[in-house]
Amino acid sequence: MRSIRIRTPSKDSLLIEKGNFKVIAGPCSIESEGLLDEILPYIKEAGAHIFRGGVYKLRTRADSFQGLGTSLYQPIREARQKYNLPFITEITDIRHIEELTDFVDIFQVGSRNMYNYPLLKELGKTKTPVLLKRAFSATLEEWIAAAGYLEKEGNPNVILCERGIRTFEQKLRNTLDLGSVAFLKKETDYPVIVDPSHATGRRDLVLPMALAAIACGADGIMVEVHPRPEEAHSDGLQSLDLTEFKDLMVRVERLRSAI
Ligand code: PEP
Ligand code: MN
Repeated sequence: MRSIRIRTPSKDSLLIEKGNFKVIAGPCSIESEGLLDEILPYIKEAGAHIFRGGVYKLRTRADSFQGLGTSLYQPIREARQKYNLPFITEITDIRHIEELTDFVDIFQVGSRNMYNYPLLKELGKTKTPVLLKRAFSATLEEWIAAAGYLEKEGNPNVILCERGIRTFEQKLRNTLDLGSVAFLKKETDYPVIVDPSHATGRRDLVLPMALAAIACGADGIMVEVHPRPEEAHSDGLQSLDLTEFKDLMVRVERLRSAI
């Protein structure tokens, strides 16, 4: 597996590499500055390596909350330094690349943008690591081909993220395709992260699917966490509260040391 160096605020680097499991955690979207100080010390203490949080949200409906945008840049810069945690956020627009570069350590390309080849080409011209989520309709071949757009432009720092696909199943938000994770680990050298939050849409299924992700060889997980999930502006039903996140970390460590 290729190893990927993630910039950190303290300039020590964090390596995504074989055998070095990573946990990315944080809210679906950063709904206020205050949320950063509520969540970051807690997830750090529990063992998370990277914090996530939406600044620009791509929502199905135009009148849904779209993220706080530029007003978050400075609070995130400060929180990133204060807690010495690298930051990942979704990049939704080519025009944001430059202004996000000084404080975004990994660009997330969301499921809706996996086929946005102009965006992938521009991100390919940077050296910033990219977490490329699988489109909910993408075959493995299409997903791997999308990664090729980043590499062709010169950015080899590609991490794949399985977040569930659409199938005939209606009970869950998506169908988590762990066979794909096992396949990618056998057939490619990309690090693969599993997102059990968007994959299930249900808080109570995040833990079992996180453990299953470890068992099938994932290199990390990305989990949504909110101190008061019932108040979240987006994805509250699938967000763990702080205690549930801490419990998940204990279980993750226990399974990791057992296998
Ligand atoms: C997210 O991570 O909050 C998100 C919108 O994910 P996806 O692109 O997988 O739907
Ligand atoms: Mn979300």
